[in-house]
Amino acid sequence: MHNNICKHCLKQFSSRFKAYSCNECRDKDEGYFDEIEAYLKEYPNSNALQISEALGITAYQVLNYLKEGRLNINSGRFERIDD
Ligand SMILES: [Zn+2]
Repeated sequence: MHNNICKHCLKQFSSRFKAYSCNECRDKDEGYFDEIEAYLKEYPNSNALQISEALGITAYQVLNYLKEGRLNINSGRFERIDD
């Protein structure tokens, strides 16, 4: 079991696999993932900044999704943004 802290509501929870969002907040992520995926299908060479501007989320959030390994971008070129 992993002890996790939800990145949205900071609640502690445990799960079988390492997780970043609790069950209540997971829906928020899924929504963004779908949008990012759809956006990348249309504009495969977008970087995190372009995605964030198009979807109204921060580039930091986009990069977080990447870090979690939940976004797979094969044809897209993803640039890391210095913070
Ligand atoms: Zn949560």
